[in-house]
Amino acid sequence: MANSKKFFDYICIGAGSGGIASANKAAQQGAKVALIEPQALGGTCVNLGCVPKKIMWYAAQLNESIQDFAPDYGFDVKLHGLDWQKLKRSRQAYIERIHGFYDTLLMKHQITHVQGYAKFVDKQTIVVDGQFYSAPHITVAVGAAPTRPSIEGQALGLDSNGFFALEQQPQRVAVVGAGYIAVELASLLLGLGSETHLIMRKGYPLRQFDAMLGQTMVQQFAKQGMHLHPNVECEQVIQEKDNSLTLVLSDQSRIHVDCVIWAIGRQPATDSLHLSEVGVKLNAEGKVEADAYYNTSVDGIYAVGDIVAGSAELTPVAVKSGRQLAMRLFGRQTHLPIEQQWIPTVVFSHPPAGSIGLSQVAAEESYGVDQVKVYTSQFTSMLSGVTTHRQQTFLKLVCVGAEQRVVGLHGLGAGMDEILQGFAVAVKLGATKADFDSTLAIHPTSAEEFVLMT
Ligand code: NDP
Repeated sequence: MANSKKFFDYICIGAGSGGIASANKAAQQGAKVALIEPQALGGTCVNLGCVPKKIMWYAAQLNESIQDFAPDYGFDVKLHGLDWQKLKRSRQAYIERIHGFYDTLLMKHQITHVQGYAKFVDKQTIVVDGQFYSAPHITVAVGAAPTRPSIEGQALGLDSNGFFALEQQPQRVAVVGAGYIAVELASLLLGLGSETHLIMRKGYPLRQFDAMLGQTMVQQFAKQGMHLHPNVECEQVIQEKDNSLTLVLSDQSRIHVDCVIWAIGRQPATDSLHLSEVGVKLNAEGKVEADAYYNTSVDGIYAVGDIVAGSAELTPVAVKSGRQLAMRLFGRQTHLPIEQQWIPTVVFSHPPAGSIGLSQVAAEESYGVDQVKVYTSQFTSMLSGVTTHRQQTFLKLVCVGAEQRVVGLHGLGAGMDEILQGFAVAVKLGATKADFDSTLAIHPTSAEEFVLMT
C-alpha cells in the first residue's frame, strides 16, 4: 500500500548541524532512524552559513595579506583581480566534499534519508509528500531563515542566502544590520575590495557583547575604508534605470549601490510543521519552547538548534544538543544542561572578535560595580609592526570578587578566532586572574597578552 505508515525508533526533522548529529548518534546506539530534509544535507551552517562564509573570510584575509602586508615584507606582488566564479567553485567543491562525508555516514549508520517537507499529523506521526512516518521520538531541528524588513523595495535586496548565490562581486554594496551576519558580510566584502556601507540603527554593532568589541570594530572598519552609517534606518529601496539601487535612510540621506544585503536577524522555520496543531508550545516569535533537556511541551517531541527559544543560535550548540539528546534517548546517558553563559563565540570579521562570558556591564549588574575589576590591553599586531598598514588588537578581562575569577574574556584582533578556544576551557573551569598570571606566556604571540595584563 503506497501510503502505509513506515515505523522508526527516531525521526529527526531537519538535516542541519543539530539534526544530522542527533540522527547519527542515535543510529550508532542501534536506533532505526529517519532523517527528513528537503534541501542539501548540512543545513545553514554547511550550505549558507559558517562554511561558505569562512571560505570568503579566508579570501578577504588573503587579499589583505597580499595588498597590505606583502609589499612591506619585500614581496613584489601584483594582483590582477579576483575571479569571483573561481572562488565560488572552490567554495562549492569544499561543500560537496562535506555532503559526500555526510552521505557516507548516513549509509554507514543505515539512516533513511527522506527528501521533503514534514508536517505533523499526530504527536508520533509526520507526513512527507503523502507518505506517513511514525516514531515514539521525534526531534525538530529545522533551524531558522533570514528576516527581511517591511519597507518599500525590500524585495530588491538580498539576504545572506542571496549573498552566497551572487554571480559576481558587487562593486558597491550596503549591508543593513548590526549582528554577526551584518559585520561578517560587510567586512569580507570590504576585504575583497567592494565599496561597502554598513547601515546600523544604533551607534555601533554587536551590542549583545562587551561594548569594547563593537566600538573598536567600527574604528577598525572606518580605518579600512568602510562607510559607516550609525543611528539610521533604511526606509526605502528604489531601483534606478541602470539597475543600481538607491537607499533612502531615516536621516533623509541617500546611498547609491549595486546591491543591498539585509542582515537584521533570523526567524524560526516552524510555520509549515503544524507543531501547534499537535500541542507543541511556541513563543511569540514562533520558536519552540523546550527545557534544558530538549523536551517540548509534548511527550516524545523534542527540539534542538536555532528554533529553540532562548538557545544560542550557534552550530556547536545544535551539535552538542542533538548528540546529548540521542544519547539520553538511546544510549541511557544523562547529561547536564549546556551552560549558556560559558559558550565561547567568534565573529568572523576582519579583524575577528571573540568573546566568552560576561560583558563588563553584565558583570557589574550581576556582582556590583565594586566587585568587578577590568584589565585591558591594546597593541599593534606583530605582523603589521613592520608594515605601513597597522592592525590593532584590543583585549579585555572581566574579573569578579576577592579571588578575581575571570568571568569575561573578550578580544578583537588578528588570531582571536583561534586564541579563544583554549581560554574558553580556562574560563569555564573557573580560572582566576592569579591562574592567568601564573601561566607562562608563549612569546611572541597576541595570545600571551591575556596572561600578562596588569
Ligand atoms: P543577530 O541577532 O546577530 O543580529 C541582528 C541585529 O540586527 C539585531 O541585533 C539588531 O541590532 C539589528 N536589527 C534588527 N532589526 C533591524 C532592523 N529592522 N533594521 C536594522 N537593524 C536591525 O542576527 P544575525 O542575522 O546577524 O545572525 C543570526 C544568528 O546567527 C546570530 O545571533 C548568531 O547566533 C548566528 N551566527 C553566528 C555566526 C558565528 O558564529 N560566527 C555567524 C553568523 C550568524 P541593533 O539592535 O543593534 O540594531
